[in-house]
Amino acid sequence: MATAPTVAVIGGGYAGMATAVSLAAQNISVTVFEAGKQPGGRARRVDHQNTALDNGLHILSGAYSETLRLICLVNPQHESALLRIPLAWHMHREFDLVAPRLPAPLHLLIALLGARGAGLGERFAIIRFIAELKRADFCLAVDCSVEQLLGYFKQSDFMQRVFWRPLCVAALNTPPAIASAQVFINVLRDTLNASREASDLLLSRVDLSALFAEPAAAFIARHGGNIRLGTRVTALEPLDAGFAVEASGERAAFSHVVCALPPHQVGAFIDGIPALAGAATMIAQFRYQPIYSVWLQYPSPVTLPHPMLGFADGPLHWLFDRGTLCGQSGLIGAVISAEGAHQELTQDELGALAQSEIARRIGGLPPPQWVRVIAEKRATFACTPGLQRPTSVTPLKNFYLAGDYTASEYPATLETAVRSGIACAAAITAR
Ligand SMILES: Cc1cc2nc3c(=O)[nH]c(=O)nc-3n(C[C@H](O)[C@H](O)[C@H](O)COP(=O)(O)OP(=O)(O)OC[C@H]3O[C@@H](n4cnc5c(N)ncnc54)[C@H](O)[C@@H]3O)c2cc1C
Repeated sequence: MATAPTVAVIGGGYAGMATAVSLAAQNISVTVFEAGKQPGGRARRVDHQNTALDNGLHILSGAYSETLRLICLVNPQHESALLRIPLAWHMHREFDLVAPRLPAPLHLLIALLGARGAGLGERFAIIRFIAELKRADFCLAVDCSVEQLLGYFKQSDFMQRVFWRPLCVAALNTPPAIASAQVFINVLRDTLNASREASDLLLSRVDLSALFAEPAAAFIARHGGNIRLGTRVTALEPLDAGFAVEASGERAAFSHVVCALPPHQVGAFIDGIPALAGAATMIAQFRYQPIYSVWLQYPSPVTLPHPMLGFADGPLHWLFDRGTLCGQSGLIGAVISAEGAHQELTQDELGALAQSEIARRIGGLPPPQWVRVIAEKRATFACTPGLQRPTSVTPLKNFYLAGDYTASEYPATLETAVRSGIACAAAITAR
């Protein structure tokens, strides 16, 4: 009789926690090793000056079916934890698009026809573009860059500036000149071309650890799993049957390992294992893109015209009003995604730039009490055309890869991470 699996999950980001929740729900013995003091990985809380910030401001979409399913499963407060709004795209004083609560595709048609700031021809060009993609079943014969795709479908410079470029950078964290058109189209297919709910935007009303990773940890513990926070795995050794995992000077044996590390840290554990050479080669070829988050605490309530407000020309891409979203009065989060000249600035210079940009654009603001810059230099892999990504199920028996970089139709997102974790758990339980 086969013995019951004992699973080590290395990494407690959204991928690792999704694996562990899925296994624990089936009463499979699981231990999560997480180097940080709290779970959540790149989507975790950062405490600063008694204020709960996030490592990076995140947007979820209604198409994140598996992330939303797991949040509902583990978080009893899920209904109040997320603000769900119909697709709304506000580029400060330049362009506004708001989808009504009507069934698809009427919601999108009305949103596009009513979009403020764009000419009639530009609005029809988007409708024609989406109709053409639909005719091609959202599938390109050969992948190319998003910039080439938009040029081919004659999207105007204005629409590229206020809509397509910011959408590409927000979704793929990769500039359109080098971003994969096929992955971008996959995102369009599952958001703009699906049900109205799939195009909804979801903004967290709590910090990102509280949204999923912490309630997931409680769920795993309630179901007999083991969460080891502040425990960095230092070595992994394949045995004749199973694996030895070394952490905090202790060595323990497991029948299965799910490696749920960020891609740039995977090599340290898999390089030199012949069965994983293919995955290691793919990961070694990844390039990375940064995301900078600037948090500014103003002394008095600052209210933006929308909870999420965009700027087409940078250097800041989006502002989030944490007062409206999370009741954190006067707290504004600013995001700069993907590569750019801002990377040359020091954190102090970037903080000062964000402060002056917000003052210039919003106006009438007192100086902030404090500014905190969080730089994630390898926030995601660069999602370039034709990029090869490793599968979650590997040729090494009982060894799996979970994470936002694994093979998927999607770019590096919470949903990609969660789906990969669920796939690892399904592969373990199927055997
Ligand atoms: C600033 C920023 C903004 C983003 N915005 C969005 C967004 O708006 N929408 C969206 O969908 N996605 C967004 N993303 C992407 C999203 O955060 C990631 O795709 C997702 O969190 C990746 O999860 P993961 O579990 O694959 O990896 P990670 O979150 O990186 O988890 C890996 C975990 O492994 C742990 N670890 C590392 N080494 C060890 C070790 N040796 N032993 C034990 N543990 C270890 C780490 O501490 C970490 O917790 C953003 C990312 C960033 C950085």
